[in-house]
Amino acid sequence: MISIAEAIAIIKENIPAPTVAECPLEQAVGKYLAEDIRAPEPSPRYTNSAMDGYAVRWADVGGHTPENPATLAIIGESRAGMPFPGRVGSGEAIRISTGAMLPDGADTVIRVEDTREEGQQVIINAAQRLGQDVRHRGEEFAAGDLLLRRGSRVATPQAALLAAVGINQVAVFAPATVAILVTGSELVVTGGAIADHQIRDSNMTMLRAAVQESAATLLSCTRVADDLPATTVAIGQATADIILCTGGVSVGRHDHVKEAAEENGFTPLFWRVKQKPGKPLYLARKGQTLLFGLPGNPVSAFMCFAHYVQPVLGALAGKPFGWPTFFARAAEEIGNRGGRPNMLRVRVSRDQEGAYAITSGERQGSHMLTSLADSNGYVILESGQTLRLGKRVLVYSYDFSKSID
Ligand code: AMP
Ligand code: MG
Repeated sequence: MISIAEAIAIIKENIPAPTVAECPLEQAVGKYLAEDIRAPEPSPRYTNSAMDGYAVRWADVGGHTPENPATLAIIGESRAGMPFPGRVGSGEAIRISTGAMLPDGADTVIRVEDTREEGQQVIINAAQRLGQDVRHRGEEFAAGDLLLRRGSRVATPQAALLAAVGINQVAVFAPATVAILVTGSELVVTGGAIADHQIRDSNMTMLRAAVQESAATLLSCTRVADDLPATTVAIGQATADIILCTGGVSVGRHDHVKEAAEENGFTPLFWRVKQKPGKPLYLARKGQTLLFGLPGNPVSAFMCFAHYVQPVLGALAGKPFGWPTFFARAAEEIGNRGGRPNMLRVRVSRDQEGAYAITSGERQGSHMLTSLADSNGYVILESGQTLRLGKRVLVYSYDFSKSID
């Protein structure tokens, strides 16, 4: 039996190689860049006005005050998308809109609020400094500047920035592909008829949802009985980066997942982790495919997904390997009196100051799905460890869609 840290180290060494794909910008949102993005052009692309007002020459307006205003002849207009074709000469001004191109000859913008029009003339009451309210070409960034790094997430602001510089195709990490294989002769599809001795298969729904929230691509979902030949065939048919099996990894006479994986040429990397719940976790590798044998107990399967599978799906999608975490304070004393490190489900709320606070659910049984549904995350406590009231602790969130930073 290995420790949680040892299991994580083995997983990190065996993450399959990520796949890179070119993708239209709209489809890149939520994905991670597989390339550095450099600006193909400067921003702003042309020198323009930051205000609605008048484009003028500083030499004509500098030093003027309301008592001693400058008077300029209005000779035209520069509007958004309709630049002024001429040149602003001495004693002249043009009307200009925010974002419109600054015409040749002008070097300064006077905002409307500091002016008054009289016929074809404009009275300039105040001018603060040369170049005021002018946005210069390239002042935000120059062509060739690094805009976004490989590995950064394309969220809404990044998508807008890419669109603004004319990039509509980017290289991103392709989501991991997943095949789910649920094992157990007692299982029936949820929603159908059920006999007293049967169990509704909740793991399939749970893992499907978890895969979806992790932004991975689900390729197949299969259920097999506790039968070695059937399990061997099912594993052989599963082609994906990650195969997620549930059930059949304990020491029972009818637990066949390990043997079926090895019959298919998988090499075992570990079996059993010193933790509660989720001890029977099994990991095997064949080429660029990882097979996780998750325990059948729904809570155990979920915790193993959260702690071991989710970071791998994230890493394949280009995220840093890790967990969506945050710090919280214990709103009550929480202890682990068991002999193994415990992944304790906790409920998160806000204290009076708005900081995160956690309480531990009463029901922590690994067969009790209410312990998951009543909680939002988990903390890992060593055997014998107690969190005193008010103690700050790292919480692992169930929000798999969150970015890792
Ligand atoms: P196993 O790991 O196969 O020994 O299963 C452990 C426990 O989890 C048993 O009580 C199973 O009935 C239950 N279990 C296994 N698979 C599922 C599933 N897909 N959905 C709900 N419960 C399950
Ligand atoms: Mg079973």
